[in-house]
Amino acid sequence: MIYKRSSALFAEAQQYIPGGVNSPVRAFKAVGGDPIFVKEAKGAYLYDEDGNKLIDYIASWGPLILGHAYEPVIKAVIDKAKKGTSFGMPTEIETDLAKLAVSMVPNIDKIRFVNSGTEACMSAVRLARGYTGKDKIIKFAGCYHGHSDSFLIQAGSGAVTFGSPNSPGVTQGTAKDTLLAKYNDLADVQGLVNANKGEIAAIIIEPVAGNMGCIIPTKEFMTGLKKLCADQGILLIFDEVMTGFRLGKGGAQEALAIDADILCFGKVIGGGLPVGAFAARAEIMSHLAPEGLVYQAGTLSGNPLAMAAGLAMLTELNDRPEVFESLANKTEYLHKGFDTVLQEKGIPYQINRFGSMISVHFTEEPVIDFESSAKGNNNSFKKYFHGMLQQGIYLPPSAFESYFLNDALSYEDLDKTIEAASKVELN
Ligand code: PMP
Repeated sequence: MIYKRSSALFAEAQQYIPGGVNSPVRAFKAVGGDPIFVKEAKGAYLYDEDGNKLIDYIASWGPLILGHAYEPVIKAVIDKAKKGTSFGMPTEIETDLAKLAVSMVPNIDKIRFVNSGTEACMSAVRLARGYTGKDKIIKFAGCYHGHSDSFLIQAGSGAVTFGSPNSPGVTQGTAKDTLLAKYNDLADVQGLVNANKGEIAAIIIEPVAGNMGCIIPTKEFMTGLKKLCADQGILLIFDEVMTGFRLGKGGAQEALAIDADILCFGKVIGGGLPVGAFAARAEIMSHLAPEGLVYQAGTLSGNPLAMAAGLAMLTELNDRPEVFESLANKTEYLHKGFDTVLQEKGIPYQINRFGSMISVHFTEEPVIDFESSAKGNNNSFKKYFHGMLQQGIYLPPSAFESYFLNDALSYEDLDKTIEAASKVELN
């Protein structure tokens, strides 16, 4: 495939936009080469500026769980746009989406909408601190919770792809309140809690991690974490930006059978428009302004177009919950297909999968935390990525990202993808 026009557009973009992109991982720095400029997309396919058709495994990093340009979502946005795009005043549709989200997700009474996953996590932590009166938080190496200062400490995803897990610009003062633990290592968390008794407001975690590839928590780790939080008066924050409305109606809480205290959402909840949200029981949420003293606000929060897209998306998922199973089946099919062709190549690899999240790591050891995931950030991954791209398969351009399957993918698309993997030269 030829990507000439994409390269020209990238060269021009770099003159006006830092690195030519508005979010670093898009620049392909980790895998080399120029990024693909997309022109349009429909269903499971991307159509780029050079006229190539690509099978998409990113789905805008997760939001488009039903495929690109999904008709009910597009119609809802167009209809809404004709009636005005922003008011900065309350609208009924905000309550409609809140009511639906609260009905789908266990253990929450109230939800506040923001504009991104970053805002959701940042606000959730502020709420936890305001509620508990404590300052410190524990996060896990390799988990990404957006780019607000407190979280850019050993963050996964783009932050680590670019070799700067601790970003310049984050003050020591902020960094000292973020304690770092190892994913899937309860003893490590216990140690931090013991050393900081009575000082920890919250533990924030990706309940199924997607920012160091897909990593599944062990049952003992999750139940232990839950118990530790309950015993010590620490709030457990599930960052469900990736997992929410993807692993099932009730997200990771339901899939893992663990209740968290505060939940963060993004991606699917906005149907492809900029929406994030955080939610909890009423007793916790009542601490937010204007009911309580913890301040949080946004000119475009609850924006009508974003709410319309989110409502159309969640309505579909609520009415057709079988979609989640169908997606998990497709993901399992892909997993088995990859197993068959990769085993033949005789190269060490690991595949992690949960629901419709999956990632392939070219490494010998099981991938259970950041350290083991980082071993897969290697030459084989680059070859795999470019080998697939040349055959029209668009995968995440970093070893630290999960694939997100969308329901528009057909079994024929999956077969093409598996066949492409069989042809990739990895050695
Ligand atoms: N949390 C998680 C788990 C994420 O994966 C992301 C983004 N990939 C964020 C938070 C931040 O969301 P956003 O990019 O919308 O700010």
